[in-house]
Amino acid sequence: MNDQIKDMVIIGGGPAGLSAGIYASRARLDAILLEKGTYGGQVLLTSHIENYPGFPDAVGGFDLADLMHRQAEKFGLKIEFLGVESITPEKGHLTLGTSEGSIRTKTAVIATGSIPNKLHVPGEEQFTGRGVSYCATCDGALYKGQKVAVVGGGDAAVEEALFLTRFAEHVEIVHWMDHLQATPILQEEALANEKISIRWNTMVSEIKGDEALKELILKNAETGETSSFSTDGLFIYIGITPQVEFAKGVVEMDERGSIVTDAKMATSVPGLFAAGDVRSWSIRQVASAVGDGATAAWYAYNYLQGIK
Ligand SMILES: Cc1cc2nc3c(=O)[nH]c(=O)nc-3n(C[C@H](O)[C@H](O)[C@H](O)COP(=O)(O)OP(=O)(O)OC[C@H]3O[C@@H](n4cnc5c(N)ncnc54)[C@H](O)[C@@H]3O)c2cc1C
Repeated sequence: MNDQIKDMVIIGGGPAGLSAGIYASRARLDAILLEKGTYGGQVLLTSHIENYPGFPDAVGGFDLADLMHRQAEKFGLKIEFLGVESITPEKGHLTLGTSEGSIRTKTAVIATGSIPNKLHVPGEEQFTGRGVSYCATCDGALYKGQKVAVVGGGDAAVEEALFLTRFAEHVEIVHWMDHLQATPILQEEALANEKISIRWNTMVSEIKGDEALKELILKNAETGETSSFSTDGLFIYIGITPQVEFAKGVVEMDERGSIVTDAKMATSVPGLFAAGDVRSWSIRQVASAVGDGATAAWYAYNYLQGIK
């Protein structure tokens, strides 16, 4: 790895990281973005986004990721496909550990987002990729004319259930509560959609099949009664967990494992900032992620200039 100390390393290439990258490269910093997978982050898991300003007719998840990436590269942002494995505060800089050696930097922005939560029930691992999915955009089209179930009651679950009605003959939402938590406009759309029905107060307790998923064992959350539900696909949207393993014990986190920041996106470690879904109190939206990314890069720049 290059021995020179960088001005800024952005960790993660989702909306927050790409937004920070746009600001860092326009400020002509010696900056680099490290991404462990594919740029775009969770935006790649959704078919379309209706609430991101500037796109009155909605924008596709892949399209938005591509536009953000092109904009960042246009201003000269360097991107390397490398995961950060550790972060060590040193005197006057931070050292980031990767599989290809370490990188020293004066500032860093953690924008590593989150990953989908699992149900942790028997059969989930066995049938992942064989009926069980966490991404309707990726796998929805496989269920043309078939029957699918969606677990969850928040925005992501209801949005993706609506998306799945384009392909599936029927979509069953399975939710452990007696009401949805999704934004009212999404609830209205789901309740009015003939292809969707909702199974209230119900949890998935087991996933069964042979070569592929065939059946869910459902449990009534109130009575404990179990029943069988046959389905071709199961899409799981029950929240997300911040990706912060590499920063544990280094930076202050809240009880949910999200990184604590102030209004400037500064963390408890000097020179270390956090942005997007990974930070405490994030509303976990693209609009808030890009705002956080811009704020983090802005105040990291001020930090480099010695401005408090
Ligand atoms: C199904 C679904 C539907 C959604 N629908 C909407 C919607 O309609 N509207 C809306 O506003 N929001 C929506 N969201 C939420 C939105 O996608 C997120 O809020 C947003 O992507 C968060 O951006 P981020 O950059 O903070 O994190 P992420 O998008 O999670 O990106 C983080 C990136 O960091 C990378 N990374 C992680 N760890 C490391 C590491 N150690 N080293 C290097 N790279 C790393 C990851 O690979 C990833 O690319 C949806 C999310 C899902 C899952």
